[in-house]
Amino acid sequence: MSLLTIRRLGDPVLREAGRDLERFDDSLLRFVDDMFETMYDAPGVGLASQQVGISSRFFVYDDGDGHRGFIANAVLSEYEGDEEHDEGCLSIPGPFHPTRRARRVRLLGSDERGRSVDIVGEGLLARIFQHETDHTNGMLYIDRLDDEGRRDVMRQLRDHELRRAQEDSSRA
Ligand SMILES: [Zn+2]
Repeated sequence: MSLLTIRRLGDPVLREAGRDLERFDDSLLRFVDDMFETMYDAPGVGLASQQVGISSRFFVYDDGDGHRGFIANAVLSEYEGDEEHDEGCLSIPGPFHPTRRARRVRLLGSDERGRSVDIVGEGLLARIFQHETDHTNGMLYIDRLDDEGRRDVMRQLRDHELRRAQEDSSRA
């Protein structure tokens, strides 16, 4: 297994709507292992194809509460309720911002062997499904914020990068 490079805000692949995944073969299974390893290393609760440089429609997830898996070609429906919680993104490392999402959602898609899956997610799992499905459509959570929300995320991102640069220079 090997760690994949996580693409960051500004990388055009994050803005590409993916094509449906059609080949479910052994090379995909190996790649899924690498995606899980990369997600746990980050650490994060989800990682989508665009975030590792592939313009497709799949993601891995683990909500830390027993729900873990790979989903390709997700289609969401039956959105219910809404709630606002802090959300972040491995491609925008550092910032978090309250983001409105449906509290419950139904996901139809395929697993890593191409078998159909049908999952109803609630709470964090529903949030992960919405966040990652957005990625596969070339969308980021900051697109769901208002102008002030986006400005706040950009401010946090600048502060985070400044701190990292200072830490790097003090280590040099
Ligand atoms: Zn993300």
